[in-house]
Amino acid sequence: MSYQPGRHFLQIPGPTNTPLPVLAAIAKPTIDHRGPEFGKLGLEVLSGIKTIFKTESPVVIYPASGTGAWEAALVNTLSPGDRILMVETGWFSTLWSRMAKKLGLEAEVIPGDWRHGVDAAVIGAKLAEDKAKAIKAVCVVHNETSTGVTSGVAAVRKAIDQAGHPALLLVDTISSLGSIDYRHDEWGVDVTVGGSQKGLMLPPGLSFNAVSDKARAAAKAATLPRSFFDWEEMIAINGKGYFPYTPSTNLLQGLKVAIEMLHAEGLDNVFARHDRAAEATRRCVRHWGFEIQCANAAEYSSALTAVRLPEGHSADALRATILERSNMSLGNGLGPLADKVFRIGHLGDFHELMVTGVLTGVEMGLAACGIPHKPGGVQAAMDYLGGNAARMAQAAE
Ligand SMILES: *Cc1c(COP(=O)(O)O)cnc(C)c1O
Repeated sequence: MSYQPGRHFLQIPGPTNTPLPVLAAIAKPTIDHRGPEFGKLGLEVLSGIKTIFKTESPVVIYPASGTGAWEAALVNTLSPGDRILMVETGWFSTLWSRMAKKLGLEAEVIPGDWRHGVDAAVIGAKLAEDKAKAIKAVCVVHNETSTGVTSGVAAVRKAIDQAGHPALLLVDTISSLGSIDYRHDEWGVDVTVGGSQKGLMLPPGLSFNAVSDKARAAAKAATLPRSFFDWEEMIAINGKGYFPYTPSTNLLQGLKVAIEMLHAEGLDNVFARHDRAAEATRRCVRHWGFEIQCANAAEYSSALTAVRLPEGHSADALRATILERSNMSLGNGLGPLADKVFRIGHLGDFHELMVTGVLTGVEMGLAACGIPHKPGGVQAAMDYLGGNAARMAQAAE
């Protein structure tokens, strides 16, 4: 057995570090999923998770990764050949649109540069052109995990309403739920797709669909084949806290504790903690002299930061060095950003000392790899987190 002393830093933007109380809950003995103890747990998590999505509507929980919940959102609401509108914000939006095409949907993808979020005005214009109301759904990724760009979902809802268009709004919040404010009901989202292994601080294996009344009505007429992912069978039996097939009992034990932890801290405090970690990270990255992949400050993600390395330097070699020297995993560049970008996940069970620890590991890695940078980025992060106004003003000069 080989052993690397100290804790591994899992700083990819999901899966994230699982806190000990959640791990302990998952490690409890597996229980009978049709017995009374499970029914009680089922009711608790099914109602608790609604408070995280900020919805009164049902939230369906699947024993599947986020990709399963993407598929569930599409197959429950749509029929073969349906037109849908999607927006290319990065790798994850691209995967979702590929899935839609594989399922036999006619997905029109609004192109993007992977440095900006969703432009609600473009969506509004496309819908206004659609006089026949043939577009059945608009699909957007709230937090694009490949680029560190967060899009405004409320603005998309407004654009759909202003166009007087009946399309459903489907939103992927897999890497924002529990890290960045999200409001299923208030923003008028029809299906919200979530996952367990990012802001919710659980291991991978659970995913979610929050489902509006309008989406449930659409499901009655939708004819894409579905069985495992069918909402109505789930929702019917969920009423008593049970599931139509074996749920991930142990992960649900963990979910109960994760929800309690988020509320014990307070959701607004959780979001503010993520905002601070992200701001400290960006100050550090700028000090080093690197560009942030997100080109619009209003769309910076509080869950992760994607960092562009100068031409001619390998982000993958840097990540490999950091893993070997500092026992820390950072996210890789995806698709066209491969080897050009690395991603720092600052989400989930994460505090300020971890922020500076992560940035220290990166700064040491930059030096080890001979990548030109201005040393002292970690100090810039510390000045911000410590509220050292004098030093921050000095740095701004
Ligand atoms: C992680 C992620 C996914 C994919 O989820 P899996 O659990 O890997 O299937 C989809 N969308 C976004 C935005 C993600 O961050």
